[in-house]
Amino acid sequence: MLLAPYACTTDQSRGRRIPEPDAPTRTPYQRDRDRIVHSTAFRRLVYKTQVFLNHEGDLFRTRLTHSLEVAQLGRSIARSLRLDEDLVEAIALAHDLGHTPFGHAGQDALNDCMQAFGGFEHNLQSLRVVDQLEERYPHYDGLNLTFETREGILKHCSETHARELEVQEPGGVGRRFLDHARPSLEAQLCNLADEIAYNAHDVDDGLRSGLITWEQLQAVPLFSRFLNIAVAEFPELARPQNQRRWIYDVIRRMLSAQVYDVIETSSAAIVVATPQCVDDVRRTAPLIRFSDSMRHDSSVLKRFLFQNLYRHPQVIQTTGQAKQVIADLFKAYMGVPSELPAAFTARTFNGLTVDTTKLARVVADYIAGMTDRFASREHERLTGQRLLA
Ligand code: MG
Repeated sequence: MLLAPYACTTDQSRGRRIPEPDAPTRTPYQRDRDRIVHSTAFRRLVYKTQVFLNHEGDLFRTRLTHSLEVAQLGRSIARSLRLDEDLVEAIALAHDLGHTPFGHAGQDALNDCMQAFGGFEHNLQSLRVVDQLEERYPHYDGLNLTFETREGILKHCSETHARELEVQEPGGVGRRFLDHARPSLEAQLCNLADEIAYNAHDVDDGLRSGLITWEQLQAVPLFSRFLNIAVAEFPELARPQNQRRWIYDVIRRMLSAQVYDVIETSSAAIVVATPQCVDDVRRTAPLIRFSDSMRHDSSVLKRFLFQNLYRHPQVIQTTGQAKQVIADLFKAYMGVPSELPAAFTARTFNGLTVDTTKLARVVADYIAGMTDRFASREHERLTGQRLLA
């Protein structure tokens, strides 16, 4: 299928930071996707919390299965809009590589620890993983991905960090946050596919855990609207033994409605804006979006999940312990840097003395890269206390 002129066609690519010859059979974005799939950080996603901690159940989403669902949704929308599917997949699979163990609680705790040393942002960390932290190639650090994949990975960035990135890489991926410009449509799409994916799977996981109920969800239009439609078509879904099938049927309809809404609304916006190339897209207001009514419904669902699932007392309780694990680990490594693996301690020296800011960043990199269970075990080893295991 021919890509649209506003898609990231490979002839418009800004390339890799270290130039490399093209692969004989794969496009640069396929190659980025493949490098991500083979990375160490990617394999660790399977043992990292999305919402429910890893040991709470085997059927809940992890960062890995979440990323696969984002890739699936993203690819199917990309094909309809004639965008580059491989680029969408690469961004989707990499978008959460920088997440700490224990989900958002871990990220907040690490950000608190890093306040005096430049803070911690998971988007920026995902970029650090693919730019610097992966050690797989003989002649450079990181995965040397294309500009477009890196642009998509850096979904948000504070102005302070954008200025720092601009110093390291003038006109690079930090630039758009200073110019208030947009990323490619493939990147915009991944952002929305992320939201569609977690809204839907958190309903599923929330129900499965018993933390949210079927009755509560009746108040959420994006869910309740499809309950009756599903039963009208398949009356046997209303039998108690079929409740799980009923939930899946409703979630499937929710997903389809959002996907078709994005395709329709974005196609219409693209027709009006008529971007002729990727740089036109970067200069235009966001074009990948929901209709106003779907934006509203999606926000209602998001708010519902925030109040009833992410803020559920049982979730909050584990959140507190997760924060303690991260804070204790940070303190332990800062106090005794020799507890870090040798490859990490080597990066903390400035001449003969340890540079505290460098040390803090190295400690943050090490903690952010941990899986949930490794962090718990390491915490027990260093403090003698057993939390979250
Ligand atoms: Mg995500």
